[in-house]
Amino acid sequence: MDKKINNCIECKSEYFTDASKMNEFCPDCAHKLYDYPRCFHKFENGRCIKCYWNGKTSEYIHEKKERITKKLKSAKMNVTLAIVILVIASIFMLFGLLSGGISYFGLFGLIVGGRYFIQAKKYKKELIEGKIR
Ligand SMILES: [Zn+2]
Ligand SMILES: [Zn+2]
Repeated sequence: MDKKINNCIECKSEYFTDASKMNEFCPDCAHKLYDYPRCFHKFENGRCIKCYWNGKTSEYIHEKKERITKKLKSAKMNVTLAIVILVIASIFMLFGLLSGGISYFGLFGLIVGGRYFIQAKKYKKELIEGKIR
């Protein structure tokens, strides 16, 4: 077996040239950085037998992943916060209606909370889809 081997410029791992769609990146970095189809690695003796990657993610990609995880965490919190605002606003609206009027505070909360909710949801979705890096 004499497959051509290349060095990834991102994670410094060797990889089979044929296994990657990119010239300078291993399949793993090509996937994480440029959304190329990923290799479903199968490790044997510390190397993927399909692409020869050594399993070590570069510091840059590692940090990027951590950053996204943190962003996702705060995005989830924003969604929760928006729901809390909506619930409180609904209670105010309900009490307002029960006492025969409209609670402007509740109305305000519904509008602001609703907008906030939509934005937080959209942001979270974009994070998951990898549109925000
Ligand atoms: Zn790489
Ligand atoms: Zn692989």
